[in-house]
Amino acid sequence: MPRAECPVCEASIRLTKDEATYGSRVTCPECGASLEVVEEEPLTLEEVAEDWGSAKDY
Ligand SMILES: [Zn+2]
Repeated sequence: MPRAECPVCEASIRLTKDEATYGSRVTCPECGASLEVVEEEPLTLEEVAEDWGSAKDY
């Protein structure tokens, strides 16, 4: 199982094969951050700045 490090809390996150692909979105189980796979080799996650509440109100 591929692993990646959360850029926010540095937790080691286990990803499924489906999740470990470029552009895939995952949520950190430790801090709840929205993360996106920006690199497959090595597997690298980046935080996605997303406002689930008030955004897209147009
Ligand atoms: Zn985290």
